This record gives sequence, structure tokens and C-alpha cells, in this order.
Amino acid sequence: MKIKNIEHLDFKESLPSPKGVALAITQMCQKEDCSIHEITKLIQTDPTLSYRLIRRANLIRQTTRAITSVHDAVLHLGLIAVKQLALSFSLIDQYQQGYCKSFDFQKFWSHSLLMAIALETFGGVIRISVREELFACGLLARIGCLALATVYPEKYSAILEKHDPKTPLTIQENRCFGIDHNEMTAAMLDDAGFTTVLIEPIYYHEEPLESEFLEESRAYQLMQLFHLAKIVADQAMNAESEQEEQSAELILLAKKLGLEMNLFVDLNKQIIQEWQAWKTLLTIPDTAFPSLQTINKTIEKYIEDTPEPSSLRVLVVEDESPSRILIQKILSDILGHSVYSAENGQQGLSLALEITPHVIITDWLMPVMNGLELTQALRTTEVGQKMYIIMLTNLEDEEKITDAFEAGVDDYITKPINIRIFRARLRAAWHYRRLQESWEQDQSQLKQFAAELALSNRKLEQAALTDILTELPNRRAGLEALTRTWNASNRSNHLMATLLIDIDHFKSINDKYGHDIGDAVLKEVATTIHSIARSGDFFCRLGGEEFLVICQDKNTDEKSIIIFAERLRKQVSNKLITATHKAIHVTISIGIALKEPTINNAEQLVKAADRALYAAKAAGRNKVFFIKKGQIIEC
Ligand code: GH3
Ligand code: MG
Ligand code: MG
Ligand code: MG
Repeated sequence: MKIKNIEHLDFKESLPSPKGVALAITQMCQKEDCSIHEITKLIQTDPTLSYRLIRRANLIRQTTRAITSVHDAVLHLGLIAVKQLALSFSLIDQYQQGYCKSFDFQKFWSHSLLMAIALETFGGVIRISVREELFACGLLARIGCLALATVYPEKYSAILEKHDPKTPLTIQENRCFGIDHNEMTAAMLDDAGFTTVLIEPIYYHEEPLESEFLEESRAYQLMQLFHLAKIVADQAMNAESEQEEQSAELILLAKKLGLEMNLFVDLNKQIIQEWQAWKTLLTIPDTAFPSLQTINKTIEKYIEDTPEPSSLRVLVVEDESPSRILIQKILSDILGHSVYSAENGQQGLSLALEITPHVIITDWLMPVMNGLELTQALRTTEVGQKMYIIMLTNLEDEEKITDAFEAGVDDYITKPINIRIFRARLRAAWHYRRLQESWEQDQSQLKQFAAELALSNRKLEQAALTDILTELPNRRAGLEALTRTWNASNRSNHLMATLLIDIDHFKSINDKYGHDIGDAVLKEVATTIHSIARSGDFFCRLGGEEFLVICQDKNTDEKSIIIFAERLRKQVSNKLITATHKAIHVTISIGIALKEPTINNAEQLVKAADRALYAAKAAGRNKVFFIKKGQIIEC
């Protein structure tokens, strides 16, 4: 921005300017050798100014001792602030009324005072470098308006009367006077010796988007602070019903400046209180009673509403960038959601398919692809069906809203955005997502249950086929294996044999050592047999101290089965079983039966083996007998 030089303005003489002591102070401060002593003496000639400066100094003092003298006040405030304050106070005193009919001079000062106090109050809690000067800056931040009203009372009155609040006043001012109130303010502040560090942010404070300040810069921070103070002042002067609409913007701004919401409410209350005190001091008549009640209520309500436990992924599709930016900011800065944005339906569609948002907030009328087409396109996809779509509408679209619902929209929000309604609608979206998630969770739980059930069924099945003591397959499993092997060998013509094993004199082990040791011996014998059983053989406990081996192997023959049985017998008889410090010696007897044409089924095969076993027992035990073509032979 370029600050205009006041000297070049032809109406310079008619501009509001300080008088009397304030003028003298301003002039004195311009001298290089200006001393605090001289200034103090000058101020003392004006009791009202003295009192006001002392009060100001006490407000910003950081010592516990109260300031009671003008000298201390000047020391405390510094010459710059004293000069600025003297100027502001002088203008307030002189310009309580004027010829510009549509310009409310008293309301102007009420507003300026509110801004000054708001600036100072917010400036006190966020770290800002030029704190002492904020108050005067607030008082003079819109001095250009007063200047135009003073210099051009009639023309300006006509402009104000016809002004549509939706368009910036500056356009009309420029057209009419070749200068707008912001340029005027800047020129006057420059003339009064304010630094550009302050003038630039003040110049842009009504329309911060027009500035090109970097977001991290001090100028940007200051501009945002001025903007916040202005909006707070605007709101305080507004009817309460209008306050509600702007509370979203206020919350956003305050958050941007790092003001915590509870604190913001307290500060707003402080501002109104402080205004009461100052308006008396500056003799501003009681025409306007500022209040920030509605705003504070909105904020308090906002604080009460507990934040959503989890954030949503939201896609904003909107072609008008101010609206898009506002929605984005409300969503991310206030409500804490993750936000993505697109400028038309087509962009929105491809982004939606990529990021699969939980919620889509889409404008209706947009270039390339409108909101309805976007909704319809999304609803044809599987992922798009799950998204919660909110349509942004203008008041006049409300009649057509059924079209939107028919296209598959879930909800709609009317522009301009009211944060409370917006929040409520998003809450609905959030509940929808929760329902959907719990449904998905139920589905996956069902799947998991089914998997677990299948597993436990398998385990049960396994358990039903396993012998608890020896962990070998049990009788049931053995009988199943027998039938299976019998059938398979019928098909393949491979050799099949059964070995029936029985521990000799096992009853006497039980009798001698007790049942528990009997169990241990049983287990040990089972392990021994199992360890030398061949991989293709099936081996189970048939019951009691009897075991069954089913051999079915294409490589096996009569001879190798006999050798195998012999090995089993020898292995057991050679093994000294130790169970609870007792060394026990057991032997087994084995009966072998081979599948022969004379044997008709698996049962007969086991019976044949049993006959061989019986023979082994009868022959003195610890023997292997084998039945062939009805003949029982010792191996
Ligand atoms: P034989 O040499 O004639 O086979 O004599 P045996 O004593 O081994 O035969 P018998 O059939 O007379 O006795 C088998 C015993 O096995 C009877 C029973 O108490 C015992 N027994 C069966 N099952 C178990 C078991 O699970 N644990 C224990 N400890 N003993 C069992
Ligand atoms: Mg649009
Ligand atoms: Mg026995
Ligand atoms: Mg037995």
C-alpha cells in the first residue's frame, strides 16, 4: 500500500484536528529536544487530559504502586502514547456531533472506544509488541470515516444513506472523493506520526483478505488483532439477533490468534465493563449500550458441546472461494476435522474416490459438474454410497431441495453458514458414520465369530477323536480310519494290515503301583510305539491297554510289517520305564492280520488280528503272532 501524503489533500484544513493542549502536545512532540518535564507541565494545564492519562497509565502499569501524578503517567506511557492519546481524546471531545446527518458521531466514538478497549484487552493476552499504542490505535482506526463526514458532510451522508452493507463502502467513497476512509485513516495516522508498522495493519483490518501479509508476519498478526477488535466492536453495537450469525467468524478469528474460548468469553465481558468506565471518562453519551451477550452465549454453548471424539474426513466442493475457505476453516480450525477441498463437481468426484471422505459438503451450482451431478455420480459407486452428502443451498433453492434428496443427498445447509446449525448437521453426519462403523464392525465381528466357531468346531472334532491320556487318536478315530483305509485299499489294491497291541499283565502293574503309575506307564508305552511308527501308518489307542496300528502303504509288504511289529515289541520290552522314581519293565503282545480275500470287512480284519493276539498271549506273551489264510503263525 502507498500512504497518501496529507499535505497534498486539498481539504487538509477541514480535517478533524486536535485543539488546545492536545495540539500543543502534538507540536511539542515534533521538536527534537522535547522534554518530559515540558510535556508534563503542558498536560497539567488540562485537568481532564491529566486525569485521563493517569487512568490510562494505571491500566497498563505493571507495578503494584498506583500512578497518581501526570509526570509518572507520562513516564509510564512514553511520549509517543501520550501524544496519540492526547490527539484521540481531543478529537473525541470536539467531534461529538457534526453536519453529516447519516453519520452517527456518538455511535462512531462508542464503536472506536470499544475497538480500543478490545485491542488492548486481547493485546494483553496474546504477545504483541506495540501494546502501549493499541488503545490510541483503536480509537483512531476508523478516523477516516469521521474525516469524510467532517469534510463532506452532505455528500457523505447521501452515500451512507444509500449504502448497501453487502458492498464495501470504500468503492463509493473512492468514486465520490477519490479517497476512501481507510486511505484517509492511513494518511492521518501517518501525519500524526504513527509508525507504518501500525498503519498498514490498520489499513487492511476491515478486509484482511486484501492484504498480502505473510501469515507468520507481525503485520498479519496485528491486522488479525485489529480485525477481531473491529468485529467484536461491530457485534457489540449490533442487535443481538445479528450477533449470532457472525459468531462463527469471531470464534475462528479468536482461535486463529490463539485465544482459548473460555478466556475469550471472559475478555468480552471485561471489554464491556471497561467500556462503561471509559465512556464516562471520555463523556461519550449513553446512546448505545454495547453487549456481547449473544456472542458469549454462542461461545459458551460451543464450549459446552463436548468435542467430537473422533474427527471426520470431510470434502468441501464449492466454486466460490470465500465460502469454501470459511467452511474449510470452520471444519478444521473450530471442529477439528480433516478437510479436503475441490472447486467443482468433477474435481470433487475424483478426489472423493481417492480419499473416500466420510462427509461431502457440496455446493449446488458449480461450473463443469454441479452438486446434483456429483451426488448422482457418487451414488453409483460402492464407496460413494457410504458417504454422507450435505448440499449447500441458497434460501431460494429450498423449494427445489426435493430434487437434491432424489439425487441421493443426505442433508442440506442453507448459506450463509450459521455455525450452530452447521455443527448440528455435522453431528448428524457423525452419528451416521458411527452407525455405519458399528454396522461394519458387526459384520466383521460376525465373520470373526463364524471363523472362531469353525475353529472351535474343528477343535471339538479333534477332541472327539483324541484320547485324553495318550493324546493319540481314539477308538472312534481308529474305527473311522479303518473304514477309510479299507475302502481306499479296495480301490488301490494296496496291501492293508492291522496290528493289535496289548500290554502284558497290565492289571498287575495297576495292582502293584496304583492306577496313576499305571497311567504313566500307558502313556510311556504309547509314546514309544508312536516314536517308531512309520509315517504312513495310522496308530491309535483302541481302549484300555490296547493299541491298533493300521498299515497301508504301497511300498509295504508282509515281511516289512512283521519286521516292524518285531521292532515295536523289542523296543517296549527293552525299555525301562521310569514313573515317579520306579523303574518298571513291561512287554507287549502283538497280533497281525493282513487283508485277504477271505476277509470281508474292516471289522473282520480287526477280529482276525485279535485272534492272533490271543494266540500270542496264550504262547506266553511278549510275542508277535500273525494270521494268514486262517492260519496263526508266530513270527
Ligand atoms: P494280559 O496280559 O492278559 O493282557 O493281562 P492284563 O492284565 O494286561 O489284561 P486285563 O484285560 O486283565 O487287564 C487290563 C487292565 O488294564 C484292566 C484295567 O484296570 C487296566 N486299564 C485299562 N485302562 C486303563 C487305564 O486307562 N489306566 C490304567 N491305569 N489302567 C487301565
Ligand atoms: Mg456455486
Ligand atoms: Mg493286557
Ligand atoms: Mg487287554
